[in-house]
Amino acid sequence: MKPLKIVVLAKQVPDTRNVGKNAMKEDGTVNRAALPAIFNPEDLHALEQALRLKDRIPGSAVHLLTMGPGRAADIIREGLFRGADGGVLLTDRKFAGADTLATSYALAQAVRKMNPDIILAGRQAIDGDTAQVGPQVAEKLHWPQVTYAEEIISCDGRKVQVKRRLERGVETVAALLPLVITVHGSAPACRPRHAKQLMKYKRAKTLSEFQESGNDAYDSRLPDHLRITEWSVADVGGDESQFGLAGSPTKVKKIENIVFQSKESKRLTASDADMDALIKELMANHTIG
Ligand SMILES: Cc1cc2nc3c(=O)[nH]c(=O)nc-3n(C[C@H](O)[C@H](O)[C@H](O)COP(=O)(O)OP(=O)(O)OC[C@H]3O[C@@H](n4cnc5c(N)ncnc54)[C@H](O)[C@@H]3O)c2cc1C
Repeated sequence: MKPLKIVVLAKQVPDTRNVGKNAMKEDGTVNRAALPAIFNPEDLHALEQALRLKDRIPGSAVHLLTMGPGRAADIIREGLFRGADGGVLLTDRKFAGADTLATSYALAQAVRKMNPDIILAGRQAIDGDTAQVGPQVAEKLHWPQVTYAEEIISCDGRKVQVKRRLERGVETVAALLPLVITVHGSAPACRPRHAKQLMKYKRAKTLSEFQESGNDAYDSRLPDHLRITEWSVADVGGDESQFGLAGSPTKVKKIENIVFQSKESKRLTASDADMDALIKELMANHTIG
């Protein structure tokens, strides 16, 4: 069976479980420096599906692709610690402030250069929450897409069978490679870091990180597997007016921090009476129905 080149789209996101008052900048963009950064949860599920494909088809390789500031190199390292073979950090001030359209354009440019057989992405990122990037990347590449995947049931190197988790239940679909699959949070959790991988990759760095620690260039003695690829706009090519804020039709007009007051919360039991009263209240204020 032909080994697969697998790319996982993984985003470094602010840990929105710890949002403080300086989380947002005046211009409505996220103040990423103020928030702990984590691996987007559903992207870890996507990574696990990618690693299972690699386990199943000998010779296959898994590479992560992440667009973000320099510190997003942590995403690549985390993937390496869990079994990936490499990754690319797409970083350039010209990518900053991108909405989903500009984000997917930049990712699609990089994907063309990586030339994979299959792309796995998370269904949704916990910060923008739009679930748009995966499908948009597929559109940009003119590839089919299977979203809300819970499991890749089978893959013969040419065709995949995928179980999807939908509101109304489970659906099994088949599709031909190449394609984009977005993975739902109901999929199996990602395997933990592997001690051997951790030892092998703990010193992996991008060139910028190397330069930040006072070196001009990579130490020639540094083995290739410890050099994390870093691509800028110049490396991926394309129409510069479609990157970053310039390429973003969506402008975040205003962002309000909604902090719930305790008086606004109500403790309910599972009793019929409470459920009945809740439904009536939600219908009365047009939240449902
Ligand atoms: C509060 C808030 C609201 C926003 N609202 C909008 C909006 O309405 N419309 C809009 O266009 N933009 C919006 N944005 C900007 C949006 O967050 C960014 O464009 C972002 O890069 C991608 O959108 P998303 O976070 O919704 O990702 P999603 O579309 O939810 O991400 C889906 C998947 O795509 C992949 N992916 C996404 N971003 C990256 C990345 N940088 N690197 C690698 N893989 C990635 C991951 O696998 C991820 O799981 C908003 C941002 C914030 C913080």
